[in-house]
Amino acid sequence: MGHESYRHLNVGFECGNKVVDSLMEAFTAEAISAMETGITTKHGTFYLCFVCVEGDLPAQAKVFHCKRNFQCVPNAMCPWCSADGTEIPFTDVRAGASWKSTVGRDVPWTNRPALADLTRKGDANFLAKDIFHVVNLGVGRTFLSSAICLLIHMGHFIPTDPAFGRGIAARISDAYKDFKQFTQKILQKTPNVKHWSRENLHWMGPQSMPDNSFKASDTPLMLAWLLDYMGRPLQPCNYLMNMLACAQGLDDFMRTCAKADRVFMTQQEAQLAVRALDKFLIHYVKLAAAANNDGLVFFNLTPKLHYLDHVRMELRGQLKHQRIFNPMAFSTAMAEDHVGRASVISRTPHQLAMPLRTAQKWLIETRLRWRGDR
Ligand SMILES: [Zn+2]
Repeated sequence: MGHESYRHLNVGFECGNKVVDSLMEAFTAEAISAMETGITTKHGTFYLCFVCVEGDLPAQAKVFHCKRNFQCVPNAMCPWCSADGTEIPFTDVRAGASWKSTVGRDVPWTNRPALADLTRKGDANFLAKDIFHVVNLGVGRTFLSSAICLLIHMGHFIPTDPAFGRGIAARISDAYKDFKQFTQKILQKTPNVKHWSRENLHWMGPQSMPDNSFKASDTPLMLAWLLDYMGRPLQPCNYLMNMLACAQGLDDFMRTCAKADRVFMTQQEAQLAVRALDKFLIHYVKLAAAANNDGLVFFNLTPKLHYLDHVRMELRGQLKHQRIFNPMAFSTAMAEDHVGRASVISRTPHQLAMPLRTAQKWLIETRLRWRGDR
């Protein structure tokens, strides 16, 4: 169902949406039946157990009626704990941060969502933490934008040809040239983004916080390039050291998750991932503090930074277990890809036949892919 047909019924995350809520009620009833009665087939009865609901932050906030969500800063802004922007700071990444003792204390809703019936106490643990939106489309992107703009602010990427001048626009364009060359020659990949500018880095002046809305696939390319750039002989300084540590932490974390089994990590891998997140989060906050002290506007402390801290806390809590969930197990990257492809093939059939035709075309697409014809 296209969101155009029900979005006019949105009345805020906390109150929900009449159409989405009735869909969730119907889904919950079916899910409970699949869990308790099971699904009988000729091969036996299967019982389906629903462990979490995956989705981006707005989708999760909508289906779970979250009164505490990413839009609420400086008020309580986290479905999983009581962190806010003042009393229980969500920006605290220290081991003894006060929000840690509030995890799971209160449910994030006042108006009980239907999905709460699939959980033990209706708590937000049922909402999966999605690395794809939290890192690739979240704090990873925010970090990279700030790092690039800070390097430019510090005087990097001055074009060798004086004809281009030394202005900010010329330096951004020089940085992109370096990035593009690196991705093509070293990584042998083509970035999705075709240029960098003040506009697409959201860096319109000294008071605007850099960020970007590039595709998720550009995040690892930009991270690899930044690591390479900072590995070149440069004049060392605190900002460079912290940025390098930050980039290494993020890269190690993503690499460890991507190389591990899709669902479970070994204890060694989990330890590596926790240490990498320690490195990223601690140095990110150091960068934000240093920039703030110097009167510079870089390294935004966003709700997604805090949500990533929850990923670290959860991973650390599982270190002694035999089976440790790979944080990437709940990444929606593949789900988004699925929706994207389904959306493309659903555009051509007649509207009345669309659901059936989409399913049939999906079967054909799958078969072609399995045969290697796609
Ligand atoms: Zn929290």
